[in-house]
Order: sequence, then structure tokens, then C-alpha cells
Amino acid sequence: MQGLMMDTPLVVTSIMRFAERNFPASSIVSAGPNGARHRYTYGQAFRRVRLLARGLETLGVRPGDRVATLAWNDYRHFELYYAISCSGAVCHTINPRLFPQQITYIVNHARDRWIFADPMFAPLLERLWPEFEGPKGVVFLTDGVGMPETDIPGARDFESLLGTEAAEFAWPDLDERTASALCYTSGTTGHPKGVLYDHRSTVIHAYAACMPDVMCLGNRDTVLAVVPMFHANAWSLPYACPMVGADLVLPGPLMGDPETLSDLIDGESVTVTMGVPTVWLGLLAFLRSTGRTVESLQRMVVGGAACPESLMRAFRDDYGVEVQHSWGMTEMSPLGVMNTPTRALDALSREERDRVRLKQGRGVFGVEMRIVDDTGTKLPWDGVASGALQVRGPWVCRQYFDPDEDDPAHRPDGWFDTGDVATIDEFGFMQITDRAKDVIKSGGEWISSIALENAAMGHPGVAEAAVIGLPHPKWGERPLLIVVRAAGVSVEKAGMLEWLQDKVAAWWMPDDVRFVDRIPHTATGKIAKTELRRLYGNHPLPDAEEDS
Ligand code: AMP
Repeated sequence: MQGLMMDTPLVVTSIMRFAERNFPASSIVSAGPNGARHRYTYGQAFRRVRLLARGLETLGVRPGDRVATLAWNDYRHFELYYAISCSGAVCHTINPRLFPQQITYIVNHARDRWIFADPMFAPLLERLWPEFEGPKGVVFLTDGVGMPETDIPGARDFESLLGTEAAEFAWPDLDERTASALCYTSGTTGHPKGVLYDHRSTVIHAYAACMPDVMCLGNRDTVLAVVPMFHANAWSLPYACPMVGADLVLPGPLMGDPETLSDLIDGESVTVTMGVPTVWLGLLAFLRSTGRTVESLQRMVVGGAACPESLMRAFRDDYGVEVQHSWGMTEMSPLGVMNTPTRALDALSREERDRVRLKQGRGVFGVEMRIVDDTGTKLPWDGVASGALQVRGPWVCRQYFDPDEDDPAHRPDGWFDTGDVATIDEFGFMQITDRAKDVIKSGGEWISSIALENAAMGHPGVAEAAVIGLPHPKWGERPLLIVVRAAGVSVEKAGMLEWLQDKVAAWWMPDDVRFVDRIPHTATGKIAKTELRRLYGNHPLPDAEEDS
């Protein structure tokens, strides 16, 4: 027997309509490059979205066309999210920090028809233009005055595309399975892979994001989205905030600049913010060195890479900010787990609870998780057994967009292999111990590079730490700790190892410590382990020769 409820499609257009009707006065504030602020309301934003949809029509954009963005977090990028998707085209967000060759590959693979780009990318696009196969032109996110000089054919400015005519637009009725957005992930091997979101997955994911034990977003929140709009839908914030009418603050091109972030938090009374650990480490150092505070900030969601314990403690104890750890992937829209303490934890001691808070978090309804061993056998949720983390659910990618190589991650039994190695405890809290490819195997046992990095980061003399495995004749692999010293504090190898002594198992102790000026990061702000292995893979481990 079938139920008798209405079959209303779950489409991004409905988020826009709802927000415009119910929260026309909620605001979007964008930071410009030189301290300027652009400020308007959802009402004004969605009026411009209609003008933009008309503009897209005049460019010849058809349903299903991929329209690329090469842009920071700002109001025009927000308008593109809606105008492109709601007119039936696909908003393809490109990470401008990728290598130029990767950008070319992505633009051609996606067969992008138009590119909407921040003017600062004019020289880059000019250089890459001859390699691009599909785009008809570039629209620069500026007005006539800010238009860069360029000889890219078909180049024009965003504001003149919008025009000023009455803002009516007949939004098409879309099937909820219509593709809405596309984002490429660098993945583990081979070319970047496209994740093609649809309207349905986007809406359900945004619903889930707002839930109290997930991101807990509400109308009274002012949300600073430091997580980039070019990476995994900015963790759904451009959809989730309008869904509840939260004010949205966008840091523009200065998203990595701690002073800008601090100014925005204070100036806009931000209550919640989200981003990767590197950004928060920068903000923490800035607050410490300037004596500034973040009075309005209640919560900080940290994900994309493991949250160091020192970061969590410092923001909680020194600045009164609750740090919530979270894990996800581009392939998961990206929400996977969120660390919100449950009632079950009340019985634990503060120390035990703190240990749980450091884990990545509990599954969100909509994401099923399991861990399996090398033979595919399911492992227990006991917080000890660690194995390959697999997921499935309505906002998890079913297959990559137009794959041009084998895709073993999407398994025949319908589960997606995340490439992460994890434990899950009896309370359902998942903890990533490593990326499968970063795991260090010493004497047949796994050493968690994340746990080692975390322990090292707790040292006051450490600004950033990373651990890689180096080949070892006796043990197979042994860990090398790579450290960037904090400004003004001197720390040496002996002090570092002594610090780690009561924090990690004796056999996890790094065989050596290498001090460096900087640790390279990927385009999405994660520690670039491949690059570290390339740079320091030949580092001689002190005992390796005696052991051989
Ligand atoms: P991306 O698709 O670029 O967002 O990368 C997803 C990958 O980032 C995951 O598979 C993890 O390896 C890593 N990651 C994301 N969040 C966390 C976290 N909280 N702790 C550790 N690793 C994380």
C-alpha cells in the first residue's frame, strides 16, 4: 500500500523561495580584499539571483550545462550557487589553489561552458585559456570599473550581466534528482574525481546539518563560513543558513587571514564558525599575540583534518569557545560525523569525556558507517579494533562523474570506501587513526600518525607537526616527526621526545625529529603528506643502519 502524501520534490529552489519569504531581512556580509564590507539581505540576494538567472540565459546556458566558479566566499559566489542550480544547470566550484594543470584537467573533464571568476584570476585564466576545450568565455565577479584588462574572448563583468530590469524569472520545475553542483576531489591516486551532487541530496544534507546534535544552526545564529565555497559546498552553509534564516558572514579572499577573521567575529557578532584546523591555529596565534578575544563566538566546528587537542583546549579554556570536531568528505556532501556529547557520556570522568571529544564524532542520521578488516569482515564497535571506514547514505556519492579510471572505492555491495582507517567506540564515536595511504606499519603493527601529530602539537614550542613513515630495514617503517617551531620558543629533538614519552606508546616514539620552516599543505588545507614524503623520504633515520 502506498502512502498518500504529496510528492513535493526536494530542490534547492525551495530553500531559496522559503528563505526569501520567511527571512528576507537576514543578512549576508562579505569581506572584500581591502577591508571593505558588502552587506545586504537575503531578500536583496535572491532578487539578484533572479537577475543572474536571466543573465545566464542570455549567455546561452542550458539545463545540465556545467558553469564553473573560481571564486572566494562572497555574495556573488552565493548568488551563483542558487542561480546556476535553480535554473537547472550545474554549479561547478573549482578550487583556485589547485595546480594549474589540475584546473585545466577539471575544466576540460567537466566540459564547463562558462567560467565565473574573481578578477584576481585573470592572469591565470589567460595562461590556461588555450588549453581549455569547452568554455565560451569568462565572467569576472566585478563591475565595469573593476574589470581586469584581458584578451580572453567573451570576457565580461558580472554586474553588467545582471542588468537592472525587473527581477522576475520563471524557475523551472526540476526533478529532485537533477544534478545541482559538481566538485572535484584530489582523491588518493590519479586524476581529480568529480562528485556530482543533486538537488535531493543537497536539501536532505542541509536539513541534517541544521539538526541540534549536528551543526545546531538556527535563526539567531551568525555563521562565519571560513570553509571555502569551492570545497564541498562550504559544508552546506550556503544552503543550511538560508534554510533557518541564520545570518551568513563570508570572509572573501582573506579567509586565511587571522586578523580579518578576528575583525569579522567581533564586528559581526559571529556565534558559530567552521573551518579547517590550520585556519584556527593561525587565529589562535593571532589572539595570543595581540591579546584580542572572541567574545561573541560560542562554537567552532573543526574538520577537514584532525583537530589537535591543544587547539580544542585553548579555545575552550582560554576563550570560552566550544570546539566541535567533525569529519566528512567531498564524496559525502561532506558531512559524515559530528562530535556532540551524548547523555551516555555524562557518566564518564572529565578526562574520559575529553578523550571522546577529540574523536571525529558520531554518525549523523543519514550516514551509515562500518569498519572492516582486510578480508572485508565487519569489526566491532569497541574503540579498539581499527579498520577501513566505509559509508553509505542519501548524500554519499554513488559513483564519480564520468570516471576515466577504475573506481574501487565504490564497492559492488553499495558501500563507499572512504580511504580512512578508523575505530568506532561503544557510544558510536568514530576516530580516524589515519588515511589508509598514510598509515605507518612498524613491525606489522599500525602507528597512528594522527595521534602522534596530535601529541606533538600539544608542545608549546610547536606551531605545526606532521608525521610520515620512512622505510626501515628491521621494522618495515618507522615514524619521522617533522616540526615547525612556534615563534620565539626553542625546542630540540630531546625535548620533543621527552614531551611525547608519557603520551604515546614507547614503540610509537619517532625515530627522529626534523625541524623545518614550513609544512606544505594541499589546496584544501590538509598537510600534504605526499609532498612531505617527497621532501623528507630520504631522511636518514639514526638507528636504521645499525639495525640492518
Ligand atoms: P576532502 O574530500 O578533501 O574534504 O577530504 C576528505 C578527507 O579529509 C577524509 O577522507 C579524511 O582523510 C580527511 N578528514 C576530514 N575531516 C577529518 C578529521 N576531522 N580528522 C581527520 N581527517 C579528516
